[in-house]
Amino acid sequence: MTQPTPSLPEPHLPEQFRALRAVKDETGVRPEFQTLTLTDLPEGDTLVRVTHSSLNYKDGLAVAGRPGVLKSYPMTPGIDLAGTVVQDQTGTYQPGDAVLLTGWGIGERQDGGYAEYARVKAGWLVPLPEGTTPQWAMSVGTAGFTAMLAVMALEEHGVTPGSGEVLVTGAAGGVGSTAVALLAAAGHTVTASTGRPEEEAYLRSLGASNVIGREELPALKRPLEKERWAGVVDSVGADTLAGALASTRTHGAVAACGLAGGSTLDTTVFPFILRGVNLLGIDSVNCPSERRRAAWARLARDLPADKLADVTQVRPLSDVPGLAQEILAGQVRGRTVIDVT
Ligand code: NDP
Repeated sequence: MTQPTPSLPEPHLPEQFRALRAVKDETGVRPEFQTLTLTDLPEGDTLVRVTHSSLNYKDGLAVAGRPGVLKSYPMTPGIDLAGTVVQDQTGTYQPGDAVLLTGWGIGERQDGGYAEYARVKAGWLVPLPEGTTPQWAMSVGTAGFTAMLAVMALEEHGVTPGSGEVLVTGAAGGVGSTAVALLAAAGHTVTASTGRPEEEAYLRSLGASNVIGREELPALKRPLEKERWAGVVDSVGADTLAGALASTRTHGAVAACGLAGGSTLDTTVFPFILRGVNLLGIDSVNCPSERRRAAWARLARDLPADKLADVTQVRPLSDVPGLAQEILAGQVRGRTVIDVT
């Protein structure tokens, strides 16, 4: 005789919940705390109770009302979230499963992580790696995930421990600090470039062997400079990236992650055609699922938890408007987790 299938308990659905929204009117764009209901959420097959989000440079731009990130208004910013599944119509996840989500356009094209609930696609979620917590996942966030993708890309292009110095630019920022810690933990010799000399001790504590000033790279103006870097993780762009390319060693590789210093790239083809330097683009938003899971598994395995905790601050959702200004002013060190509970 077949046993009746036990029915799952009905999930607890909130009548209303809190969200930080970017709203636009004739005076411009401003952040506003609002009370929403589930009908306000976008379409999607999976409802997630968000417990943690994080603060990235892009979130700073969105919350501060800078153009280019949010595609419509009102919108809940927050490109990262972690929490537990409430309902999943696809059956991929069970209620209570711990998940994380970065990118895929949340906090840009549709409502993101700065709210107690999010409706998303199950295919965008990554199960929380075993032994980790939502707070850990958000201390990594898009910034740490991007750093991991950059390190993986360098390795795939022959930059292995022992190949020589690896440069990290914007080193005291979120992508930069995680890249320094990941590279050092993997056995690379890391040189950190920063505009904040007062962060030298901090960068050395993450594993940097050398710390150089932010101004040194843009000063490298010739098409080919003295060969120095086996690999580069760049979160700054513009003349910093051009200087890094010109001083990368033969058959070295440069992972271009960001534009904190500008989006232009004024360079020549000489590093590419005379030294075989590879310029690798890093895109965390649309990264395919399989590579995402591989990166998260590796982050859980390789990123020293004590180092990550040292570079992380946890702040409430109510602090986000102020934090947005700070990250745009380059005053945020390491990673910021947003507690959404
Ligand atoms: P942070 O603000 O945490 O870090 C950026 C760092 O860049 C700062 O800490 C600072 O480092 C340096 N910096 C800031 N302004 C300037 C400037 N004018 N000139 C030179 N250096 C500067 O941001 P994140 O780490 O979150 O992001 C870094 C970049 O990567 C951003 O441009 C972001 O948009 C991009 N990004 C891209 C992703 C992708 O998928 N490709 C994903 C995530 C981020 P210091 O004080 O050490 O000099």
